Amino acid sequence: MPKYIAVIGGVISGVGKGIATASIGRVLKNYGLSVTAIKIDPYINCDAGTLRPTEHGEVWVTDDGGEIDQDLGNYERFLGQPISKFNNITTGQIYRTLIEKERRGDFLGETVQFIPHVPNEIKRRVINAAGANDIVLVEIGGTIGDYENIPFLFALKSLENEIGTENIIYILVSYLPIPTHIEEMKTKPTQLAIKLLRENGIQPDFIICRGKYPLDAVRKNKIEQYSNISSENIISMPDVTGEGTPNTIYVVPSVLERENLGEKILQRLNVQKKEDYDSQEWNESTRRIIHSEKKVKIGIVGKYINIGDYMLKDSYISVCESLRHAGGKNNAEISICWIDASSLEDSGEESHSLLSSCDGLLIPGGFGSSGVEGKIKAIRYARENNIPFLGLCLGMQLAVVEFARNVCSLGGAHSREINPDAQHGVIDFLPEQHSISLKGGTMRLGSYPAVLKENTKTYSLYGQNIVAERHRHRYEVNPEYHSILQQNGLIFSGMSPDKTLVEFIELPNHPFFIATQSHPEFKSSLLKPAPLFDGFIKASLARQHLLTSQTHIEL
Ligand code: GLN
Repeated sequence: MPKYIAVIGGVISGVGKGIATASIGRVLKNYGLSVTAIKIDPYINCDAGTLRPTEHGEVWVTDDGGEIDQDLGNYERFLGQPISKFNNITTGQIYRTLIEKERRGDFLGETVQFIPHVPNEIKRRVINAAGANDIVLVEIGGTIGDYENIPFLFALKSLENEIGTENIIYILVSYLPIPTHIEEMKTKPTQLAIKLLRENGIQPDFIICRGKYPLDAVRKNKIEQYSNISSENIISMPDVTGEGTPNTIYVVPSVLERENLGEKILQRLNVQKKEDYDSQEWNESTRRIIHSEKKVKIGIVGKYINIGDYMLKDSYISVCESLRHAGGKNNAEISICWIDASSLEDSGEESHSLLSSCDGLLIPGGFGSSGVEGKIKAIRYARENNIPFLGLCLGMQLAVVEFARNVCSLGGAHSREINPDAQHGVIDFLPEQHSISLKGGTMRLGSYPAVLKENTKTYSLYGQNIVAERHRHRYEVNPEYHSILQQNGLIFSGMSPDKTLVEFIELPNHPFFIATQSHPEFKSSLLKPAPLFDGFIKASLARQHLLTSQTHIEL
């Protein structure tokens, strides 16, 4: 039977509970145990597919076609294994199932009530997702004290009752602020979070203390006295990104291991490790990110960037992490230059210096019309000036639009997503999308295979001719334009097995111009960087090298 680790947040959200959960998973996996992780999102949406990326960050896509909160991406990146959509549970899913069952008459006249039906349905889903793994992490979204968390806490207590207290532990991930006017780390909000947990019948076994700096002995003792938890089980998890830090989340497993958290958890759950702790490969890859010898500047031309006075980089988190994975492999620190696509729209020559200051340009996925002409401008600049270019999903569709307009001379070419009346709709609805009226969960979602063309760059990067990447789109390259695009020199380097759908494109006579209808960023991990990102970083480093040597000649 699996052992469960429930992870609950205290004080505020957004302090790295997902990274803490993923890192605990990594630590336990390093002991040879099989581990999975479940994310509970207490919102009423059935999944994250219809959520605004500027509010919730990127939508993560699983192999089996789930559209999920970005935390599942952290679990996959840290555990290095695919995680199913069934490992995400939302309030919407629970109520939808219960109401469907009730309408079918499955309850045979029973009154369907909050207790026991809601916690029972939550438990059923948790146990199903747990499978036969040794360890199952269950992260509850939000913060203790949120009204919407209550049914999930209730379900965990009920699960505990069923499986025995020895088979489940609770970890509180709390935040210790340092108010600027007193410059002292305060434990009071954490004390209040513990109090709230206890009101729900939960005494935490461990407290992970997030803060700008490590937790000192004085504050550990204070929390120990207040909460009756041995200071041994109060774990310090200081910031690892930002100035004066290693600046990579991949060190967090080592931070937790320094406090011996893995051994302590195994002891508390009475689990035998299957191997000696092995973090060699992980640490080696992390070290290459921290101590990289080179630096490469990548321009990401996106639209989900500026939110009010703040920059929200979480909208492209998997793209950024994939760049870092590939950077680590190539010994290069990634410096990301955020380029707001709409700012390029009205700009003239002056935007060229910004674009050409980047070693490579990346156009990520997206929806809707804003910033589209700016992205097309950036793609044209990359194509005409030999700047390495990687296009993902919408990025590929716009590369096709740009090529159709400026190389095939198809004036007015566009995507029908942006201009339904375009004279040349080179990007159009996938056939099955015409009849779809519901927005949630109806795109072409999840992993699909593609057959790569031999003697292309795409083929040589993957090193095999059949590859599977994840998808999330409604539009495709219009089959009516396949031949004109190819006649003008665009190479379809990967097609769906039935040869109808363009999955990868590239240009010959360009250092690196590759785009894909898929999202390879969803399969990249620290130990296994995505091949297209690897090739893109290599090409960007080569351009940098070329520019430097040209400068030398001029001097
Ligand atoms: N909006 C485009 C489509 O639906 C691209 C989607 C994406 O970039 N994920 O086809």
